[in-house]
Amino acid sequence: PLTDMPNRLLFTERINQALKTAQQSGKQFALLYFDLDRFKNINDSFGHLFGDYILRMVAERLTAEFRGPDTVARLGGDEFVLLFSDIEGPADVFEAAERIVRAFRKPFHTNARDFFLTASIGVTIFPDHGEDSDTLVSNADLAMYHAKRLGGDRFRVFTTGMQKEVIRRINLENYLRRAWEVENFDLLYQPLVDAATCRLTGAEALLRWNDLGIGPVSPSEFIPLAEETGLILPLGYWVLERACRQVRQWRESGLPDVHVSVNVTARQLSEARFPEELRRILQAADVKSDALTVEITEDTLMSSTRQSIELLRELKETGVQISIDDFGTGYSSLSYLKRFPVDTLKIDRSFVFDLPEDKDSVAIVRSILALAKNLGLKVIAEGVETRPQLDFLTTEGCDGIQGFYFSRPVSGHQIMGAYPVGER
Ligand code: C2E
Ligand code: MG
Ligand code: MG
Repeated sequence: PLTDMPNRLLFTERINQALKTAQQSGKQFALLYFDLDRFKNINDSFGHLFGDYILRMVAERLTAEFRGPDTVARLGGDEFVLLFSDIEGPADVFEAAERIVRAFRKPFHTNARDFFLTASIGVTIFPDHGEDSDTLVSNADLAMYHAKRLGGDRFRVFTTGMQKEVIRRINLENYLRRAWEVENFDLLYQPLVDAATCRLTGAEALLRWNDLGIGPVSPSEFIPLAEETGLILPLGYWVLERACRQVRQWRESGLPDVHVSVNVTARQLSEARFPEELRRILQAADVKSDALTVEITEDTLMSSTRQSIELLRELKETGVQISIDDFGTGYSSLSYLKRFPVDTLKIDRSFVFDLPEDKDSVAIVRSILALAKNLGLKVIAEGVETRPQLDFLTTEGCDGIQGFYFSRPVSGHQIMGAYPVGER
């Protein structure tokens, strides 16, 4: 009733009709599974009534983009399916999907403000991707989900590989939950070295998950999964507690000035109680707030909501340092640097990798250093593996160095044994 559109039942009937016609004529037809990106934010921040209002505009836009005798139906929430019967070939469908994605890049105007809501679309074509309505719809859903995982604002056509990936993901999700129940994680620390003196100044805490069943899984794979499932919240506090206790241990064993950096995700920053919990954790470990740096990726910062920006300010007031991780990869407008209370930029290792030979990397690194200097920010280079990289970065005025050249991530205990260093 909200959108005056057919529901799932009616839609299934229409697909069945299309199936019959296609079987007789030998023609193809296609399904588009449509879902708004981050629509939940609208409901959460502005309430469901307002969400419904936006959904009506979405339905209007979808119908406006959509010509011909075919059907648009709402499956519930912000999910819609579109039926393209009687197509000439896949190109028609791709063109239509692209047109819809593009239509959703335009803002929605409301009295209060403009909203940007991009869309993700999954595509299936009969008979290649399914021969009955259930399979066609669920495979289109799967393809939509893949479009989302790639960042949304795009369409994806179903492939059988997608099923395999989903099965791996579901297995991984189960393993991950179990690993959390038995605390099957470990925290390693990668030394952070002062560029001028080559002395140890701190270490970045990096999570490790060595599951006997499936072997080691990279944090680049399981952190996003923990983020999606919400497990990152308890896991993230676990990491913070561990890291803070480690700082105290270092202090007690004669490394009084070594501080620790901890990676924090968007989901963690969306928790209003995060700054308070952080304070509690620091207190419990008897560690001063300036011994802790919170690392947030540039991507996370760019997509942060008003609440999480407030939260960053609150964090800053507690005295912890804030560092932008993977800097340079976010395709961001640099103006955001003025809005966020940031202390340090960490140059992404993709720019360090081919220093000092690659002209573009040299130019990018020099620009980042100049920018940081003008804004009064410190710069740390990640992924430093060779002496020429180190020498270049030091000469150019980089403040901190992290990378395999000095050390791989090691146990908290090994940090105590091996340092302080003062040698190249
Ligand atoms: P990151 O925060 O950018 O961490 C640096 C990554 O670069 C680490 O990978 C580290 O092992 C690797 N690395 C350091 N030096 C070198 C080098 O010289 N050469 C090369 N090739 N690599 C180097 P790792 O440990 O696999 O972590 C990957 C990412 O996973 C991290 O990137 C971080 O975003 C995330 N992550 C790890 N631990 C945590 C955690 O406790 N919480 C959260 N939220 N994310 C974490
Ligand atoms: Mg990091
Ligand atoms: Mg990084």
